[in-house]
Amino acid sequence: MRRPEIKVPPPGPKASSLIRLDSRYVSPSYTRVYPLVVKWGKGAWICDVDDNIFLDFTSGIAVCGTGHCHPEVVKAIKAQADQLLHMAGTDFYYEPQIYLAEKLSLLAPGDGNKKVYFGNSGAESVEAAFKLARWHTKRELNIAFFGAFHGRTMGALSLTASKAIQKKHYYPLVPGITHIPYPYCYRCPYNLAYPECDIECVTWLEETLFRTTIPPEEVAAIFVEPIQGEGGYIVPPPEFHSRLSEVARKYGMLYVADEVQSGMGRTGKMFAMEHYTVAPDIIALAKGIASGLPLGAMVARSDIMDWEAGSHASTFGGNPVSCQASLATIRLLQEGLLDNAREQGAVLMEGLRELQKGYECMGDVRGKGLMVGVEMVKDRETKERAPELRNQILRRAFERGLLLLPCGDNTIRFCPALTVRREEADTCLNILEEVLKEVSG
Ligand code: PLP
Repeated sequence: MRRPEIKVPPPGPKASSLIRLDSRYVSPSYTRVYPLVVKWGKGAWICDVDDNIFLDFTSGIAVCGTGHCHPEVVKAIKAQADQLLHMAGTDFYYEPQIYLAEKLSLLAPGDGNKKVYFGNSGAESVEAAFKLARWHTKRELNIAFFGAFHGRTMGALSLTASKAIQKKHYYPLVPGITHIPYPYCYRCPYNLAYPECDIECVTWLEETLFRTTIPPEEVAAIFVEPIQGEGGYIVPPPEFHSRLSEVARKYGMLYVADEVQSGMGRTGKMFAMEHYTVAPDIIALAKGIASGLPLGAMVARSDIMDWEAGSHASTFGGNPVSCQASLATIRLLQEGLLDNAREQGAVLMEGLRELQKGYECMGDVRGKGLMVGVEMVKDRETKERAPELRNQILRRAFERGLLLLPCGDNTIRFCPALTVRREEADTCLNILEEVLKEVSG
């Protein structure tokens, strides 16, 4: 079994010197959880500038779904780079953007034709969805969820309700957005239990919010992550999205699925909404769409994407190199990576559930496919959150050569490449167990 190789305790001398340089010139707004300075990546493995080898269970925040530098993706990028780097898909036409739009339109759940708007990031995809919802419905209000992360541009940030620091000093934001509780069954916001709750998080909307505060016929859209990502990898109950989307349909609101993190095979299906058999009106995509090249896409039913020429665009959106990387990525997902995400996701989940039996601090293990989270608690009965312990585990795992990320206040997220192999999942579980033993004394 291949193990990480830590030759110099990280950060080693080169990493330390680069971090000093970074702190002088790079924005201090970034949130580095541990001092990893990357030199190269291949598959699920990362080498730092001091030649330490790490097993990567972050895939660059759920972006490099095909693994780092997949040869097919690199080949497609190189071929396109030789031919055309940029020609502004907003003003001219070129094949990769057209073919990718066709592909995404055919892949997105739901019958009928769809159209695609291209941007460069998740925030831009959400921002575009936000504007299209206003354009199409001519309504001003929107609904989003507590815990949601939709990006950091002003519109997307206004929909976000993840961490207060993300909004500090940025008010006033876009008005007309109401945040409501997400179906977080482990800590039910209504103090109920599934399934007896009868999905109160949906009924509350009609029985309380629409009755007392918000005229539903003025709501343009409900923005929702199929599985909440940055908020803590929170998986809603099976009926949630179908029930909520029915409410949206009843009042003529659009159902906007933010699949920036959960999409492109991450959960073992191309789009996480497929687990819930819901066809959203609009889907926001980015992250895993192009294996690491910057690309965002907003896919909407053609009858909804009725805005006029000039109403929205972006110079770099739909860059031809990114589009080719995306076409190669989608091919790989369809040719086996979706299956692998389901299979290895099950291995990981089972291994974590097994570990949970021996470690009281593992409060909740949840996820779908390779979007897996473990919520760390001080006590399983009281469910008191254990953010310091979570951070300590991330740090110790890093020192042993395993790269993990946080999400939510106290959750460890596991989002490896969808190419991850059984023995790599086992290595991750072994290292995690060593760390858990260490931190629990
Ligand atoms: N939406 C979701 C669900 C995300 O997880 C993220 C990023 O984490 C975004 C939007 C924003 O994406 P970006 O950072 O590419 O703007």
